[in-house]
Amino acid sequence: MTWLFISDLHLSPDRPEITAQFETFIESWHGRAGHLYILGDLFEVWLGDDMGGALGERVAAAVHRLHDSGTAVALMHGNRDFLLGRRFAEACGATLLPDPCVREIHGQRVLLSHGDLFCTDDVAYQRMRRVFHQALVQRSFLALPRALRTRFAARLRARSQAEIADKPPEIMDVNAEAVAAALREYGVDCLLHGHTHRPAVHRLELDGAPATRIVLGDWYTQGSALTWDERGYALRGLPRPPAGPNGSGTADPDG
Ligand code: MN
Repeated sequence: MTWLFISDLHLSPDRPEITAQFETFIESWHGRAGHLYILGDLFEVWLGDDMGGALGERVAAAVHRLHDSGTAVALMHGNRDFLLGRRFAEACGATLLPDPCVREIHGQRVLLSHGDLFCTDDVAYQRMRRVFHQALVQRSFLALPRALRTRFAARLRARSQAEIADKPPEIMDVNAEAVAAALREYGVDCLLHGHTHRPAVHRLELDGAPATRIVLGDWYTQGSALTWDERGYALRGLPRPPAGPNGSGTADPDG
């Protein structure tokens, strides 16, 4: 039985080629995948389940078809789509996961996370994250009229992009101590996350024993997926099929 892990697709109406590749990808797994885990930032932005639009409906329908083929689908929030709610999850046939959480995958206990939690060097971001993850803040935001939510998000986005331009790249990556602390806290020796857009398998040492940190890639210029079956795991880039007339995606350094 294969487990599939993806993250950081940053789906948006502006990047139809990514949505198309995502649909083709999950369709290719119909009937063959035991689990699909989407570890955050499926969407570039999500301002509420009532604002998912045509893209949200299309994506939910595609995911639900995979679910109908026998795959258990799980959805974790990213920093861009932390307002994904139960209504959207139900439309996908998916369950919503807490961040982080542990799953046993073919005998190995693995800590799953979007990954922004571990970017503790970015103190301003962590402060903002704590505010936006308060239930009252989220409820109040979701109660706003749609036009106001859109305007508010655009303003936040502009501010965050201006701040990111000033930040050295190291502080946008995970902090080694934060990773070690989480591995210890959950009693695991493997962490799997996305967010940083730096796909890799890192071999670490944790208290004298080997540990692993697997990082999923983003989907801006190609896809990225981790497959994990009885023989082990493989992290792969998924070449983008030839683009249509409006072919190319734009890179965005902000996880
Ligand atoms: Mn992210």
